[in-house]
Amino acid sequence: MKLQMPGQQEQLLSQEFFMRMIHGEPPLPIEKGADGNMYDVVIAGAGVNGLSAAYHLASRGAEVLILDEREAGKGASDAAAGMLGAQTEKHQTKELFHFAVEGRNYFESFSTQLEEASQQSVHYRKEGAWKLAFTSEEKGDLEELMTFHRKEGEEVIAADRSDLVHAVPEAGAFHLEGAAFFPHEAQVDARRYVSALKKAALNNGAVLLEYTSVKDIKRRGENWTVVTEDRELSAGKVILSHGTGRSLGYAMPDMIPVKGECVAVKPKVQPFISTIVAPQIYMVPKKDGRIIIGATETEGDYTKTVRAGAVSWLIEEACRIIPSLREAPVQEIWAGVRPKSPDGIPFAGELEKNLYVISGHYRNGILMSGLTGKEISRSIFGENNELYFMCPKRRNTNAHSYERERLRTGSKCKDDT
Ligand SMILES: Cc1cc2nc3c(=O)[nH]c(=O)nc-3n(C[C@H](O)[C@H](O)[C@H](O)COP(=O)(O)OP(=O)(O)OC[C@H]3O[C@@H](n4cnc5c(N)ncnc54)[C@H](O)[C@@H]3O)c2cc1C
Repeated sequence: MKLQMPGQQEQLLSQEFFMRMIHGEPPLPIEKGADGNMYDVVIAGAGVNGLSAAYHLASRGAEVLILDEREAGKGASDAAAGMLGAQTEKHQTKELFHFAVEGRNYFESFSTQLEEASQQSVHYRKEGAWKLAFTSEEKGDLEELMTFHRKEGEEVIAADRSDLVHAVPEAGAFHLEGAAFFPHEAQVDARRYVSALKKAALNNGAVLLEYTSVKDIKRRGENWTVVTEDRELSAGKVILSHGTGRSLGYAMPDMIPVKGECVAVKPKVQPFISTIVAPQIYMVPKKDGRIIIGATETEGDYTKTVRAGAVSWLIEEACRIIPSLREAPVQEIWAGVRPKSPDGIPFAGELEKNLYVISGHYRNGILMSGLTGKEISRSIFGENNELYFMCPKRRNTNAHSYERERLRTGSKCKDDT
């Protein structure tokens, strides 16, 4: 018998599923569809969002197939600095801010859960983060941010030069207008996290087909047919989590690509342990001794070429704050392309019957991916979830307003570097 999930007459069966779980019985055996290819959920795109959804769904007994047109995790997820920056990042709305904080806090248990399920470390590190202001205008913005966080019940510590120098003795040689310390900020190693997610999802029974591009999705009654180059797959439900990939089945507008370049250096001794977020750049001290310096922002650029100017700019800005980094060996330079939604709020939830979307997480896809995967799985199991404000049904308004904005400005490229 095939495991069913809410959507048809499934409520009853999913209750049966939970009763079996409570009594320690294995999930119901899964019956393949008549064509041998019927999955409960087919996921298009194996970045952190697709993999997290796969992990959470498979751990509840759903039969999941994940498809990616290249190696899993080699989209934006591979390029991330791994900050779980709920408070150092700016969020579009209050709901998104709270989701980000919850997403960061979720990592505390989720990282352990993943490590157990995958037998791999994700290098979770909770050492807090500094946010610096160099001008009076930036100081004003920082104070506004601190006031907002305190009002919303989140801890932030106002700091000054002596606090910063006490923690990071080298960081005294530049003009500082203001600073704040966010003690609950954390980070993971993004590539290790992707690898652990993938392994944990597979260990829970999910199936992954890499180098398999989804070309289209077609409705078949309440279900879907997912079309690849060489086969058609039947799916009870589909999740589109294809990042900056081309829009599938015209279900969603294409996401706006925002390229980011990064540099990793590895000094003999790490001169600081908490992430430092300056107005232009950030520096993330990883558990393995590297420091990731990021990142540029170039809207409209899908390429992964790294510009010499971007590298020298990132290194100059970093050395202005931590001069000894000038001597640190460069380990790697790279670029990735963030998927941004037209209004800056991610899409996560049900778009139409049995079709779900997770995309547009822009600068905070790692941070939000754990909780997003958990909540999308709750949504698919017909349970209350926290994704209401990310509802993808708002897509048309956004697509049109983005098009209008493009026509109005005559360009979609913005280079902040
Ligand atoms: C330089 C940089 C630094 C960043 N730093 C951070 C950070 O510190 N903290 C943070 O939280 N976030 C960070 N981000 C953002 C984060 O990386 C992204 O938001 C996140 O990885 C998005 O994940 P995703 O799963 O939605 O997309 P992706 O990781 O892009 O995954 C989408 C997948 O879909 C696949 N795909 C596309 N089209 C198809 C198709 N037709 N068929 C099959 N597969 C398809 C792609 O191959 C890809 O693997 C950073 C991003 C960049 C570029």
